[in-house]
Amino acid sequence: MSATPAVIPAPATLAILGGGQLGRYFVAAAQELGYRVIVLDPDANAPAGKIANEHLIKGYDDADALAYLAQHCAAATTEFENVPAASLATLAAHMPVHPSADAVTIAQDRIREKRFLRDHGLATAPFITVEQQTDLDAAGDDMFPAILKIARFGYDGKGQARIADRAQAIAAWQQFGTACVLEKMVPLDAEVSVVLARNAHGDCQCFTPAENIHRHGILDVSITPARIGDDLLQQAQAAAQALAQEMDYVGVLAVEFFISNGQLLINEMAPRPHNSGHYTIDSCVSSQYEQQVRALCSLPLGDARPHSAAVMVNLLGDLWFDANGQGPHEPDWTQLNRVPTLKLHMYGKLAARPGRKMGHFTVLDQARDSAVQTALDARRAIGIKDD
Ligand code: ATP
Ligand code: MG
Repeated sequence: MSATPAVIPAPATLAILGGGQLGRYFVAAAQELGYRVIVLDPDANAPAGKIANEHLIKGYDDADALAYLAQHCAAATTEFENVPAASLATLAAHMPVHPSADAVTIAQDRIREKRFLRDHGLATAPFITVEQQTDLDAAGDDMFPAILKIARFGYDGKGQARIADRAQAIAAWQQFGTACVLEKMVPLDAEVSVVLARNAHGDCQCFTPAENIHRHGILDVSITPARIGDDLLQQAQAAAQALAQEMDYVGVLAVEFFISNGQLLINEMAPRPHNSGHYTIDSCVSSQYEQQVRALCSLPLGDARPHSAAVMVNLLGDLWFDANGQGPHEPDWTQLNRVPTLKLHMYGKLAARPGRKMGHFTVLDQARDSAVQTALDARRAIGIKDD
């Protein structure tokens, strides 16, 4: 790391690989600060492409697209971990790239990620890596029940199987047919995530931990501050900062934790802003996306302090379909619009599909518990079931 990284001032042009909703918020934050943004995403309808200064509709490893970015951009970032690390390395020969290809290489592979955490003394659920069947034969009996997770390209609970015993683990591993991590099932008191930003000077700003509630493997509700007590709130922030420091990470990093029998365990990390950090747009002095721009351009980081409690609810494509699966029909947002403390966000996606993240809303309040109540009432009012 250079001692005095150069500031990249606006109106420079920035590149982002990936054009989903996280990328769209990055584009908006960068443009607010006076930058231009080029999005690279092969999907012509990518939400970030719709508001970017330019959208290259090409693959992430397309040599012409990467050459174009190298020629026109002053810095590059990503909005998803499955971007080819080689593309980031190619761009890094021409401009600052944050997060680095090295950091993304660790975060996009559960085996490297888990080993990195273990080697740096950061607590996780007990795990073994599974690259051949003998790894499962050798697993201790105390590893079960467990979850088998594919090492790469899993998300929203996809590429995972719940496992009762060794025989099931072997069957599931044969079905996945790829390198995996076998994790012991741990009892969960709660799940929380910490988003932080770190710039090339080593300055770090940590957001308040969010408590995350999943449904069918997909994030449903995020509550900030998490209802886990001050000690654990501080421990989670400290552990996330320690991890960022160990990786010499520059950019926005999200760290997911389990709280199991009162103990904090790291589940996984994402080298980018996080769904559970959407709340920062509405309830913090600086959003996670503004921090991503600031860290990328070596600006001083913004203040991560919240000015209110916040509860975020994801809006999935299921809402566009009735009980018989008929649709899609645009939901009636009247029940949300009538709540004055509720901020509705839609991502501009053309096609609604069950399980697809179409938008979210965040309820703000001085008191967390009343924000939870208002958000759950609003969630029910538009017909989201608690099943
Ligand atoms: P996402 O993309 O939504 O973060 P993912 O596909 O990367 O999800 P994980 O975060 O590894 O998957 O796991 C999804 C969920 O499954 C966790 O949030 C947690 O509820 C549960 N889970 C995963 N691992 C364990 C474990 N070892 N013990 C208990 N529950 C677990
Ligand atoms: Mg997860």
